[in-house]
Amino acid sequence: MSDSSFDVIVIGGGPAGYPCAIRAAQNKLKVACIDEWKNYDGSHAFGGTCLNAGCIPSKALLESSELYHRAHVEFAAHGITAKGLEFDVAEMQKRKAKIVKASTQGINALFKGAGVTGLQGHGRLLAGNRVEYTAADGSKQELVAKHVVLASGSAPMPLKSLPFDGKQVVDSWGALEFDAVPKRLGVIGAGVIGLELGSVWRRLGAEVVVLEAMEQFLWMADQAVAKEALRHFKKLGLDVRLGAKVTGADVRKDGVALKYTDAKGEQSVTVDKVVVAIGRRPYTQDLLGEGTGVEVDERGFIKVDQECRTGAGNVWAIGDVVRGPMLAHKGKEEGVMVGDLIAGLHSEVNYNAVPSVIYTAPEIAWVGQTEEQVKASGREYKVGSFPFAASGRARAMEAPAGFCKVIAAKDDDEILGVHIVGPMAGELIAEAVLAMEYSASTEDLQRTMHAHPTLSEALHEAALSADKRAIDIPNR
Ligand code: FAD
Ligand code: NAD
Repeated sequence: MSDSSFDVIVIGGGPAGYPCAIRAAQNKLKVACIDEWKNYDGSHAFGGTCLNAGCIPSKALLESSELYHRAHVEFAAHGITAKGLEFDVAEMQKRKAKIVKASTQGINALFKGAGVTGLQGHGRLLAGNRVEYTAADGSKQELVAKHVVLASGSAPMPLKSLPFDGKQVVDSWGALEFDAVPKRLGVIGAGVIGLELGSVWRRLGAEVVVLEAMEQFLWMADQAVAKEALRHFKKLGLDVRLGAKVTGADVRKDGVALKYTDAKGEQSVTVDKVVVAIGRRPYTQDLLGEGTGVEVDERGFIKVDQECRTGAGNVWAIGDVVRGPMLAHKGKEEGVMVGDLIAGLHSEVNYNAVPSVIYTAPEIAWVGQTEEQVKASGREYKVGSFPFAASGRARAMEAPAGFCKVIAAKDDDEILGVHIVGPMAGELIAEAVLAMEYSASTEDLQRTMHAHPTLSEALHEAALSADKRAIDIPNR
């Protein structure tokens, strides 16, 4: 590389880093983005965890496995007979790989179009806004930048008593790469990954046992939603065991004997493969040289303020490596904000309106506070709810499970939280996010016309039900 001086160097090309690089370049800044992601076959690719081993491949397999499952359990109700239904894991994996490739290669094209210099290899911040760049061939070069953005992401948290071996004990990436359906699959952690990947392999026939340390299922979700979701996961055949603390494991060729304790005492279960999905931790390995002034907290997150400034002159940090939910869209918005702030433009992220989606069936999605959080805050509130069983569109889709719930302040009617469990919840939540972004009231939603018959009417009716003015369900 002949040119070693940039306005902005972004270290990390995941969903936080690459949008930051593109936005900074759109703002006429000279930008480089360094990324070291390596696939199992040794190839480099931009896109980070999300595109290569997270959001995109998991959704590809969720889609394939859901189609297969629905064909089994729903087609008959439509009057369709599907005899001899079969699936081919290799074909599913091929489709997934194609989608991932198209997504990651798309970033090269985006960089080209925006004028971002994409560099594959390792970046290390040195004092004085210098960056040591180690290329894939091992050669090193020192680069300088007016601003450096750290977007190094996160990595799976290991379980001390059950270390990853990449074969029988795998992380989420390993569980996305299975070439056959395990007969018995153990999942440690009933969080987002455990439920999504547990669903994939269960729908394809695995016996899935999910061991969750907490007594409460989906503690971070509204508990009415969690309760409804658990009922459906049990119906699917996910064996979710709550309050189960893994104490050890015996990894043998013929299976993994997991030992755990729960309210009843010591227990064990033997499985063929185990996915450990107990959370992710910020990744800063070999990222910070001596004297950079960047601080890391006790959990390993890079310390930043609301605008993602680290406190070290012109060094910023975004995405999973900083506080807040580990979500691709949260990282993306931080990247865009920083790309604008560096250029002297106004920008901010509204951390009160970050949507969460769990892509199971039924889907789970929410934004804002849960009813438990609102109650704890002491603010007077009202709740409106609408079941998909009362939605003509949901019934026509053979998807009447779940409901939509709106929580609003009693005094000024401001929407405080929206929680959906049901068909296309992840798409429906966008309207609630927009409403909260504009500090909308339930009355705003009530007075907005929603097309009929659509699933979005459930949100409309839930908003009406908050004032006992729903039309399509009795008001209690
Ligand atoms: P990452 O995506 O981890 O990217 C960081 C990049 O920086 C990586 O390419 C890494 O190799 C590179 N890097 C690190 N250090 C250096 C260095 N020193 N030099 C050069 N490069 C470096 N989120 C959602 O919002 N929706 C989902 O549906 C979803 N599904 C998921 C499914 C799974 C199975 C997993 C594991 C995660 C999922 N997530 C999802 C979370 C999402 O993937 C992360 O929140 C997101 O990828 C974080 O983006 P990031 O850019 O901060 O970090
Ligand atoms: P998570 O935090 O969602 O869930 C981890 C679960 O493991 C928790 O329920 C926790 O109580 C449990 N746990 C922790 N230690 C345990 C132990 N020793 N034994 C049994 N259970 C234990 O984490 P995750 O599912 O690993 O996902 C990691 C991150 O990736 C999440 O922060 C999530 O935001 C992100 N992600 C998002 C999506 C999405 O947006 N759809 C999908 C996948 C991952």
